[in-house]
Amino acid sequence: MRVEDFIAWFLRLKAKDYLSFKDFGDIPIPSPPNQDIELYIHIPFCEQLCPYCSFHRFLYREPQARVYFDALRKEISMYKDLGYKFGGVYVGGGTPTILVDELLKTLELVNDLFSPAEISVETNPDRLQVDILEDLVSVGVKRVSVGIQSFDDDLLKKIGRYGKYGGGGELKHKVMDAMGKVKTLNLDMIYNFPGQTRDMLDKDIDAIFEIEPDQVTFYPLMISDSTRRTMESLMGTVDYRKEAFFYSIIRDRLSALYAPSTAWCFSRSDSKMIDEYIVKYDQYVGVGSGSFGLLGRAIYSNTFSLDEYVGMLDKGRLPLKTLKVFSNKEMARYFFLMSLFGLKLDRYAFKDKFGEDVCKMLWPECVFFMLSGGMSIKNGRLELTRRGEYYWVVMMREFFIGVDNFRDQARKGIGL
Ligand code: SF4
Repeated sequence: MRVEDFIAWFLRLKAKDYLSFKDFGDIPIPSPPNQDIELYIHIPFCEQLCPYCSFHRFLYREPQARVYFDALRKEISMYKDLGYKFGGVYVGGGTPTILVDELLKTLELVNDLFSPAEISVETNPDRLQVDILEDLVSVGVKRVSVGIQSFDDDLLKKIGRYGKYGGGGELKHKVMDAMGKVKTLNLDMIYNFPGQTRDMLDKDIDAIFEIEPDQVTFYPLMISDSTRRTMESLMGTVDYRKEAFFYSIIRDRLSALYAPSTAWCFSRSDSKMIDEYIVKYDQYVGVGSGSFGLLGRAIYSNTFSLDEYVGMLDKGRLPLKTLKVFSNKEMARYFFLMSLFGLKLDRYAFKDKFGEDVCKMLWPECVFFMLSGGMSIKNGRLELTRRGEYYWVVMMREFFIGVDNFRDQARKGIGL
């Protein structure tokens, strides 16, 4: 068995325990930490639902979305009243730019209440318009992340994005026109689609070099249990051996212009903001239906039902629905996973946080990754090796598939 297959098998086994949240009904309101943390804002609407996607999203209807944005602003204000301070904001979806006027109003409120240093917003290619980007910059957005997935026309047709967002040539032009309009423009790409060949991947990377965006994130295709059947009937089964080979091509070729910011995000030297706020902040609040927050040792999720979300906020209640409190060791494992996803872990910071040296507290993990050539110790830090970077791609893939499966169950629980 390959080391990466063992890692994937082991994480799948453990994911069910780690993500077994309890629905407590009435969840105690978390007290604010004594520091700036991250605010994640979820906008769960899309004009079309892509077959491979397990995010919490609904088909867009304008009246429903406007009611939702109103409720969202109430929730954000409630965190201000509770004394929370947010230094960074990440708006994800769904499609956050689906109703630009509502998004701007929401970010203006966020600025008034918290004056965050940085705001990052996800979008789709049809919203890469100069006037929209200028509006976003005017409310402090410094990073825009656009979901491209691939520039290959056949793949785009198979995943249902060709009709909505255009073919590879059109996408390239849209991105090129948007270059320089925002501090950091990130392209989200996906690789290892069934049927994707090396030639297709090389052409995607060629397109990246032609455009030279500030940043590019290459996600491995992540299929949750609920989308597996649809994806297999549309495209075939996922070959994880090909994933390792494709990752090595991406990593090797991109190094000519980009340096890794995480195991799957590659930045030019001047682009520091990254997609994974979970790497940068070890505490965050999630607002919006189906969002997650991590405060101290507790993970919270908001209700996945839009009606319940709006209803609870109308009654002046935070829409918290589930809670899981981790042990110190479980939190240490989470910190180990996330820090090393960001390529290194500071042993002194770990000891300050968890009261013991990482190699003592998590010795099985450390021994395993040292012996398998995935990790080394340098200057008081654990650092990933090139092989380790791929191991972390596998771990994060399994982590997010676990989260997707949790979302699927939560959505099923409310009849979606
Ligand atoms: S991939 Fe993006 S656009 Fe497609 S359904 Fe998921 S969130 Fe919406």
